Amino acid sequence: MDLYKAFTVEAAHHLPNLPEGHKCRRLHGHSFRIEIHVTGTVDKKPGWVMDFAEISQYFKPLFEQLDHHYLNEVPGLENPTSENLAVWIWQRLKPALPRLSSVAIQETCTSGCVYRGED
Ligand SMILES: [Zn+2]
Repeated sequence: MDLYKAFTVEAAHHLPNLPEGHKCRRLHGHSFRIEIHVTGTVDKKPGWVMDFAEISQYFKPLFEQLDHHYLNEVPGLENPTSENLAVWIWQRLKPALPRLSSVAIQETCTSGCVYRGED
């Protein structure tokens, strides 16, 4: 069973490695939708894989570092593409949440990425 919890993070960024004149090099913001997916078997008694609240609890310290922040200033996010953000979250969440199966980042209504722990 794949379980997920979605969070919305409001944040500013710019992508410094892009050529001059690329629109993403300019300072701008997104309402990032972040999905944290966990894989496991359904525990028969409660009838769930895990408590959604537990996912929120593990994500909270990361949420606080990201929400309403300028992502380029967050250590490890100097080039804050959606791809790099997904890896950044994965690396910080996986030790506490071993059943983490993917991190999905949606940066606009039509653009996003899914990271499953392998490059
Ligand atoms: Zn952007």
